[in-house]
Amino acid sequence: MTLDDILEEMKKAQNICILAHENPDGDAIGSSLGLYDILSKMGKNVEVLMKNVPETYTFLPGVHNIKEEPTIEKFDLAIVVDCPDLKRVNSGLIQYFETAKVKVEFDHHMNNSMFADYNIVNHVSPACCQILVTSFDYLEVELSKEAMTCFLTGIITDTGGFKNSGIGEETFEIAGRALNQGINLPSIYKASLLTITKSRFEAQKLAMDRMEFLAEGRISFTYITKEDIKNLNLKDGDHEGIVEIGRNIQNVEVSIFLREEEKGYKISLRSNESVNVAEVCMLFGGGGHIRAAGANTTMPLEEAKHALVRAIEKRLK
Ligand code: 5GP
Ligand code: MN
Repeated sequence: MTLDDILEEMKKAQNICILAHENPDGDAIGSSLGLYDILSKMGKNVEVLMKNVPETYTFLPGVHNIKEEPTIEKFDLAIVVDCPDLKRVNSGLIQYFETAKVKVEFDHHMNNSMFADYNIVNHVSPACCQILVTSFDYLEVELSKEAMTCFLTGIITDTGGFKNSGIGEETFEIAGRALNQGINLPSIYKASLLTITKSRFEAQKLAMDRMEFLAEGRISFTYITKEDIKNLNLKDGDHEGIVEIGRNIQNVEVSIFLREEEKGYKISLRSNESVNVAEVCMLFGGGGHIRAAGANTTMPLEEAKHALVRAIEKRLK
């Protein structure tokens, strides 16, 4: 059984690195730091390599151990979390995965390419953190309060506060268990999903002001530019939540949010009931989940908007 083999590899390894996707979210950071806690308590030398960690997650135990660059060159074991393929792994850090002796991944995305030596993938799981909890439960590895705090954070953020598709009995069992361990779930919920910085609020205000409705109100569209990011002094992760605003409006099936980056735009899509947005994003070289997906494009804003609207309209029921 693969999970048992992974535990053996963890026991054999001394130097371990943990990697996740670019613009890391609560699930990527929670998965990485939960694993960090487990492996460092096993006596391993563990490095979580990650750039652009949003300020929102500075409450997580172990967050100060995150490094932008490793202190060693070559790892015995590399673990990638919350990434469907190697393209999603932070490009400046990918070499530490490629040169590691043993490669492991834990993921929950639809179009996962099974890129590691050991792949623990469950695309119906609502969060990578949930896969990690069930995996370590199976292995009978005890999860400390710190590890559970990290994993619960990823579950809360990736499920949008226990409401997105994929949640089930298991999700609530983990939440109940965390409460029994003395973890302050309401405070994590508030810190990771509700509390926003003033500049994040300004970004939401601007995006709302610009929001357009297309296809008879079934599609919402908004964007922010590089100039907005500079003017509002937006930090990493400050755009999070904007795409949800459109999705929550009555009659909207798909919400489109474009964020200008160094080169081109980052596409974020969310849907409510019928459109598979992962499929739409795959047309643009991206992917994700049925109800939440993303991609990158080098098309100019208007062109990207029209291409997305066309692809979504075809799929509206
Ligand atoms: P978000 O809109 O929050 O950036 O991303 C929503 C979901 O789509 C996340 O699960 C994320 O991992 C996935 N996703 C976002 N961007 C990309 C991308 O460029 N490629 C792939 N394969 N998945 C993405
Ligand atoms: Mn995730």
